[in-house]
Amino acid sequence: MKTPLKPSARQIQALAPRYMQAFRCVGSDCVETCCGSWNIAIDERTYQRYQTIRIEPLAGMLRQHVQRHADPAASHGAFASISLKMDEPCPMLDADQLCSIQKTLGAEALSGTCNDYPRVFVHDGLRLGLCASLSCPEAARLALSDAAALDMSELSLEFNPELAPALHRRRDPLSSAEEPDLVRRHAPVLASVMDALLRLEHLSAEQALVYGGLLWRRVAALGEAAGDASREASGEAPGTPSEAQLEQVLDQFLRPDTLSRAADLVQGLPVPKEAQFSLLLGASQRFMREHGGRASFRALMDEVSQGLLLGQPLAVCLARYQEAESQVLRPFLAQHPHLLKNYTLNALQAAVFPRRGTAELQAEYMDLAVRVALIRFYLVGLAALRGPAFGTDDVVRAVYGVARNIEHNRRFMPGVMQQLQEQGALRLEVLATLLL
Ligand code: SF4
Repeated sequence: MKTPLKPSARQIQALAPRYMQAFRCVGSDCVETCCGSWNIAIDERTYQRYQTIRIEPLAGMLRQHVQRHADPAASHGAFASISLKMDEPCPMLDADQLCSIQKTLGAEALSGTCNDYPRVFVHDGLRLGLCASLSCPEAARLALSDAAALDMSELSLEFNPELAPALHRRRDPLSSAEEPDLVRRHAPVLASVMDALLRLEHLSAEQALVYGGLLWRRVAALGEAAGDASREASGEAPGTPSEAQLEQVLDQFLRPDTLSRAADLVQGLPVPKEAQFSLLLGASQRFMREHGGRASFRALMDEVSQGLLLGQPLAVCLARYQEAESQVLRPFLAQHPHLLKNYTLNALQAAVFPRRGTAELQAEYMDLAVRVALIRFYLVGLAALRGPAFGTDDVVRAVYGVARNIEHNRRFMPGVMQQLQEQGALRLEVLATLLL
């Protein structure tokens, strides 16, 4: 069971989605506790403290289960870790599913990973923010069940400097007057553009993502064009696009008259459904074949398979897919547009998009958009299985199931992205095919 943030020396303010005010770990009532099936990183300070513990049986459990890494760099930076087996709970949990470390020593003795999860602390270069990883079922439920859950507000946090959380950080634009990269220079503005597109009432999450994709493709092309022009002219260092060029692109995409036609423009893009079906199914099946997946994800995939009649001829599966999408999922999402919007807004905040520079803009965006495409694909499968009984609980389950496999399995997204790359689908031009 997780505790609220600890008593601390001072209060700090963070910008957080509204659902964070209500979030509390539900502990042993959790449908899929976070204390299982992944490696829990232990920082050096916490590891050294565990070495001094003499209280049994805790001391023996710590000796047995906390392993120091000879080379932290080879262990994703973790100084030590508690290794958990797939689908088995954390060995530090007692018979009541309560953490022995926390019970014996207090919450102060938890590692940063255990203490922070599912909270994600971000800094967008201007200020501190907080959201949650939606791989936590309770956070996903709160973030998706209320249309206003992603409205932003100030949240007062208790802050203990000794337990400073890991921060997902974007470079500070105020100290980057000499920043040569256009996207890094204006990252907060570009982030607010994407946020605003997703909040437009007349665009669905999928339409906003595709429209955003067209916009980011133009912004990325500014960098490529500047580099080419410069190389041609001087044969030396590449040039950088100017503010005026960026302003022109933003103006073109964000003018009220263009925005009012955005849904029609996006819906006019060709969407070969067979390609969508094959790309997303192929990527998922390859991951399952090569890496398995957690029990909850395998259960989700089983239901998707049943819903889509996988195993029958492709034409049968495809017809079933298209019928479930048009008859069940689309009408449902039209009535509950906030579901995919809230997931996406949360993912953008957690990733601090755009975090890197012009050259990485497309890949960063595709990583987010492909997650939404996968979730939507599984939703079609669940919609096919449930029919009219399909509901918000199915969306919550698909979201935390996918988020948990992506965020807790470092091989999931690279595997999916590689599969899409091999099929030439990892380009902003094909976003419509994946999402609409
Ligand atoms: S997944 Fe969320 S609700 Fe469940 S035990 Fe972990 S923090 Fe608590």
